[in-house]
Amino acid sequence: MLCVVTGAAGFIGSHLVEALLRRGDTVRGIDSFVPYYSAEVKQRNQAAAARHPRYEFFPIDLRTDNLAEVIRDADVIFHLAAMPGLVASWTQMDLYVACNVTATQRLLEAVTRYRPRLHRLIYASTSSVYGLYASGDESLPTRPVSPYGVTKLAGEHLCQAYAEASRLPLTVLRYFSVYGPRQRPDMGYHRFIQAMLGDEEITITGDGKQVRGNTFVSDAVEATLRAVDAIPGETFNVGGGETASVWDIISRIEAILGKKARIRMGPARPGDQRYTGADTSKIRRHLGWEPKVGLDEGLKRQIDWQREARGLGSAAEA
Ligand code: NAD
Repeated sequence: MLCVVTGAAGFIGSHLVEALLRRGDTVRGIDSFVPYYSAEVKQRNQAAAARHPRYEFFPIDLRTDNLAEVIRDADVIFHLAAMPGLVASWTQMDLYVACNVTATQRLLEAVTRYRPRLHRLIYASTSSVYGLYASGDESLPTRPVSPYGVTKLAGEHLCQAYAEASRLPLTVLRYFSVYGPRQRPDMGYHRFIQAMLGDEEITITGDGKQVRGNTFVSDAVEATLRAVDAIPGETFNVGGGETASVWDIISRIEAILGKKARIRMGPARPGDQRYTGADTSKIRRHLGWEPKVGLDEGLKRQIDWQREARGLGSAAEA
């Protein structure tokens, strides 16, 4: 199949590209290296894929560039490009709107115009659409509390509106806290590990009792691949099943690294979710998907990757 991945140089997108190449697909990646984290990191993310003969990269911006050439003969489009997380705030709403709403709408316009008989469009959404307490199944009311959650939900609605009007075969995936190698540098586990490897203080925002339903990146990718053949029009939670508070994560990292964290308490971040824990019975039922990587194993793999990126050996050698 000819697959287009938007956000291909990002954390999850780069793993998805590699998984598609491994299973024999031809892949076109789109990314404009939006600078909320370094372009060098994103270049490294897709370094292996870039050498693959079935991979072609398009450094284009969904907000402004012509998308016809890239999507014209695509069988599947995975739309992962976004302005994610809480790195910016309500004061930078225009960035969230541009990358999560305008970019999505331009992609949908191009799809309906140039590729109306697409096999599948997959929209990467988030547990943040649920709001402070993302605990339950897909019927939980959506009450986002951050610019990210609000604009990602708007993206879902846009996809559904176009799918309805133009009969696009859409699947929406709501990922819950994805972690693992290449995790974005703004994300909590990345920051905690980075600080501990550098013998620096960890800043915990809020009381540290925030709970996350953690999903290892290869499990998120496997769910995304299976979604290609889901019944069109469905929305699925994608969550790894193991929930943990910030304090719990820090003790697990301490145990893996064999040293104590130095902690500093900071103010709570506006829009930070209190509890996320996915009910994934629907995706299990429909697609037979099960998360495979447990939290300790997943954290160890992320730590190994961060150690390697700093020129240190693996945790086993520490
Ligand atoms: P990421 O920032 O690493 O990747 C997103 C990529 O999209 C970036 O490389 C960025 O440069 C690119 N991009 C943004 N706007 C663009 C535009 N206008 N044109 C072209 N490229 C653009 O983020 P990620 O963590 O890999 O997230 C991927 C997707 O998964 C996002 O849609 C995000 O909302 C969703 N998601 C992620 C998580 C998580 O825990 N990481 C959780 C829930 C949902």
